[in-house]
Amino acid sequence: MFDKILIANRGEIALRILRACKEMGIKTVTVHSQADAEAKYVALSDESVCIGPAPSNLSYLNIQAIISAAEVTDAQAIHPGYGFLSESADFAERVEKSGFTFIGPRSETIRLMGDKVSAKEAMKKAGVPCVPGSDGALTDNASDILTEARKIGYPVIIKAAGGGGGRGMRVVHTEAALLNSVAMTKSEAQAAFGNSVVYMEKFLEKPRHIEVQVLSDQHKNAVHLLERDCSLQRRHQKIIEEAPAPNIPERPKTKLAVRCADACKKINYVGAGTFEFLYQDGEYYFIEMNTRLQVEHPVTESITGIDLVQEQIKIAFGEKLSFKQKNIEANGHSIECRINAEDPYNFIPSPGTITRFHLPGGPGIRVDTHAYGGYKVPAHYDSMIGKLIASGKDREQAIARMRIALSEIAIEGIKTNIPLHLDLMNDLAYKDGGVSIHYLEKKLGIKS
Ligand code: ADP
Repeated sequence: MFDKILIANRGEIALRILRACKEMGIKTVTVHSQADAEAKYVALSDESVCIGPAPSNLSYLNIQAIISAAEVTDAQAIHPGYGFLSESADFAERVEKSGFTFIGPRSETIRLMGDKVSAKEAMKKAGVPCVPGSDGALTDNASDILTEARKIGYPVIIKAAGGGGGRGMRVVHTEAALLNSVAMTKSEAQAAFGNSVVYMEKFLEKPRHIEVQVLSDQHKNAVHLLERDCSLQRRHQKIIEEAPAPNIPERPKTKLAVRCADACKKINYVGAGTFEFLYQDGEYYFIEMNTRLQVEHPVTESITGIDLVQEQIKIAFGEKLSFKQKNIEANGHSIECRINAEDPYNFIPSPGTITRFHLPGGPGIRVDTHAYGGYKVPAHYDSMIGKLIASGKDREQAIARMRIALSEIAIEGIKTNIPLHLDLMNDLAYKDGGVSIHYLEKKLGIKS
């Protein structure tokens, strides 16, 4: 096994990876910006290297600084976590070329899946169901674009091939608006992602977000770890996730998950990954693959009993998966609430010092957070300060435990979205299970 791993991330996920390494007897190197010098995981790691000032482009996105940190500390592998450089094919390639192991898929795979047009093509070929749309990129020919949209039927969505994080998309309801919208999305995509390629899809009006977790080793063994429902979103950002997805027929769901595992073998996928789908009227439509660990991985860990971070590390080292598909079963139900330092209703970030910090506990409760009393939430990064995960024998028990845990949590000095989570745990439609991705924004009176 690796002797030493460098964790190229911050916050709760840095701590999560650090714990996995410790359990496996692996030494850890953390990297931190000047703003994170006081972080708990920095103190808990065997070594830590300051990689630059607070702004991420000067620190957590600074490839050279991270590679140098791995060199001076003699780390053998680099875990990218999620966000930052985790889906950068260039970073993965630099890591590989510098003689370290990247804990994730090969850089070619990240590149293939990072371009949504090539990802969709690869998935179609591998037998994964996709959203009906243009076969590949839209050309500059106006009449071709109009014909394509007529064929698909309005509303359609124009999406940037290089888009990400919910950006680079535009919904078009009428033919009159089509050509202008295509042109605008193209120029925005060029400015934001340096790639003006766009494609067209049918816009699904009330889908749910269902995703399938996979693990695939270097020896052509691939399994799925069932699915998650992440439909509660605001501005395409997930805020509550759960596993398994409620109120969906079992057999097609399993068939889909098996297809995802098969697709991994077809594209020679290595590592943990997630196939994201929109689900509407009983059909699944692939939208993208995330070639990394997800924020919401704990709900899958809870129902399967498999530690996804440890599996990532073992796969990267070259080990064979130690279990088969038939060994993976869902046990009970698990829900995750992302705790953000922000106003619960207008979502304005609320950085600052946490003056009081009390965590909940009891059966089925897991808290993944790097925060503590006296911790200063920096203004420079994502506002998520932790995740509260409640699990139970069924969904009802998981919700009840989540409600109790949320009412026990005390975080003072900054605002958090805990009141919103409490509201949602008492929401009748949520309790029924199966709300669409637009539900939260509608409930909050936000126009998407
Ligand atoms: P990103 O990489 O930016 O997250 P995705 O392709 O995953 O982009 O899409 C993000 C979100 O946009 C989805 O979760 C969904 O809410 C919405 N979306 C994307 N494609 C469609 C579609 N064809 N119909 C309806 N909504 C869509």
